[in-house]
Amino acid sequence: MSNFLHGGATRLIEGVGKFRRGVFGTKKSLFHRLKDGQSPLAVFITCSDSRINPNLLTQTEPGELFILRNAGNLVPPHSAGPSGEGATVEYAVTNLKIHDVVVCGHSHCGAMQGLLSPEALEKMPTVREWLRNAAAVVTAVEAKGPGLTPAQKLELAVQQNTLVQIEHLKTHPAVAEAMAAGRLRLHAWVYHFETGEVDAHDAGLQRFVPLAEATRPHWTPADKPAGPLGSMI
Ligand SMILES: [Zn+2]
Repeated sequence: MSNFLHGGATRLIEGVGKFRRGVFGTKKSLFHRLKDGQSPLAVFITCSDSRINPNLLTQTEPGELFILRNAGNLVPPHSAGPSGEGATVEYAVTNLKIHDVVVCGHSHCGAMQGLLSPEALEKMPTVREWLRNAAAVVTAVEAKGPGLTPAQKLELAVQQNTLVQIEHLKTHPAVAEAMAAGRLRLHAWVYHFETGEVDAHDAGLQRFVPLAEATRPHWTPADKPAGPLGSMI
């Protein structure tokens, strides 16, 4: 056991003990109820970055968010072949019948930085290949961003990436079908962890605005009444 307890893992093991002795007891009925199934409010696609805690950010409990994380919050298009991301979204939309998908990028994203500075990825060929799923972001930043500072370019890349991934989501048949039936909304968010602010892309205004001011997520037809998450934003 002592060999097992070293470095960062020690904190994790202590944390599990603390969770079991304290938090679990206060939420016992919730965990007990969850054995019967899940009915999450939304799919939440975000970066693996440790500075993001989706449940903390959205103040949600176990059972309420169907979370998909990877470097750069990317969703390969359907044409790229089977992927873990495609499978996760298909399951969420088809089997769990989730009506909202949030793609949440974040400030200071290392993956987006790598996308803009490919020379930094020399020793990370897998990351470089993976980031091909965001290649359209580079084109968008180059078109919109001459004269911008590196920090502004990164901010723009983070925003554009959420929109590129929304387009990739739409190529998946389960998503396309649910959207055509008017039962799926796609949301592009950017979380600024250093300030706690969240911006959302308003599909009507065609720009990012503070989340509380956004009124139109990405969905069709546009005039369907909004559900829980739609009315929230
Ligand atoms: Zn990131």
